[in-house]
Amino acid sequence: MAVATRYEVVVGLEVHAQVLTQSKMFCGCSTDYLTTPPNANTCPVCLGLPGSLPVINRRAVEATIRTALALNCEIPEFSKFDRKNYFYPDLPKGYQISQYDLPFSRNGHLDFDVKGEARRCGITRVHLEEDTGKLQHAGAIEESQSSLVDFNRAGVPLMEIVSEPDLRSADEAREYVMRLRAILQYIGVNNGDMESGQLRCDANVSLRPVGQAEFGTKVEVKNMNSFRAIHRAIEYEIGRQTEVLDTGGRLVQETRGWNDARGLTVSQRTKEFAEDYRYFPEPDLPPLEVSREWVAEIRSSLPELPAARRERFITAYGLTPYDASLLTSSKPMAAYFEETVRLGAPAKAVANWILSDFSRLLNADHKEIEEASVKPTHLQQLIELIDSGVISGKMAKETFEVMYRAPDPAPALTALKGSSQISGDAELEAIAEQVIAENAKSVADFKAGKQQALKFLIGQGMKISKGRANPQRLEASLREKIK
Ligand SMILES: [Zn+2]
Repeated sequence: MAVATRYEVVVGLEVHAQVLTQSKMFCGCSTDYLTTPPNANTCPVCLGLPGSLPVINRRAVEATIRTALALNCEIPEFSKFDRKNYFYPDLPKGYQISQYDLPFSRNGHLDFDVKGEARRCGITRVHLEEDTGKLQHAGAIEESQSSLVDFNRAGVPLMEIVSEPDLRSADEAREYVMRLRAILQYIGVNNGDMESGQLRCDANVSLRPVGQAEFGTKVEVKNMNSFRAIHRAIEYEIGRQTEVLDTGGRLVQETRGWNDARGLTVSQRTKEFAEDYRYFPEPDLPPLEVSREWVAEIRSSLPELPAARRERFITAYGLTPYDASLLTSSKPMAAYFEETVRLGAPAKAVANWILSDFSRLLNADHKEIEEASVKPTHLQQLIELIDSGVISGKMAKETFEVMYRAPDPAPALTALKGSSQISGDAELEAIAEQVIAENAKSVADFKAGKQQALKFLIGQGMKISKGRANPQRLEASLREKIK
């Protein structure tokens, strides 16, 4: 969909990331809501029963500060939790404990690049709240006879990472979320799984005439559960809003849901304003003083972040900025790359394998690299077979796919080593004889002193053997026979 040049696109993102903790935000219940039966992980606190009192999960606070520091935020000394009041069936208390005016962090930024150009998006804040339960409708929501509620997810710690409206296209928004996801994975606070909703993204999209300082009416788009969906939804919304403005219509501030199957956004409700939530300080929790010592301790425990790792990959391994960006966009992929190189494979070759054939197969299967049966040691051995001339690049590609599909890649690799290399004298001699018989002219040329002719003959032998002949031994055999 073409973006009209007379409007400027303004996008801000709200990313919700479940914090990887063992227990919930304000009680001791397990956070494992995916594999337990409905409502198994509940207690009076997360069910909101009268008289129950919440207790703050220190690990969740630490993870939030950790995230905020990785996003270059300031960490205020004082913070508090607030009640956000609204009624919804998956919210047992009738309010959500969140943060309002004194969150754990503010004023950060995230750097990323789009097609090689550097961009920076401001981070308004990273705050902490509790997740809601989940409604299960029997069939489609419109026709469902009943809805069931599962409170296993209610009270799971949830970080909200709010960006400034600094993004100017769907490409930038997608890149921002990819970078953010990588950072969350690197620092170990979230698993980055968008499909199961452990990382969720809402986009605020508006348009304004080029040159106008004031923002246009913003529309919030929800329900995007992949990078592709984020990109498509924003593109769709830009197109829809352009059309409304072009035809003299007015946009209303509303929430729209992305329907991935139909490829469009659908109005859900007109947007409520912050005051509708009647925020007030959570009376059951004390305000928090975040000591500078604690912040310093968390800061010093931060690992190497994606941006730093990318720079290191460029300088230490001689990779292109583009390859380094892709490799470091996922922590497991970066680790896989480094392990394969550590085993002795050349960096450039490893990067090529991971970013081409390997990624293509993984993407088709919706798999992460650490789930693949091909381990760094297998890839290293395969690359070694190519580099030492034992197998051709074409054979390696074919075998890689076989290795990838097999539960254990070792046999395919062993078979390749055994069957591939034609080094046996009898077999090589037969190939050499066939080449000589079929190329009398080149043989004569070589005898007359043309070295190029020998190269051609070797090439013919490689062809006959489908790339399986050992080129050095084939050459020796040809020289021997032509003498
Ligand atoms: Zn509980």
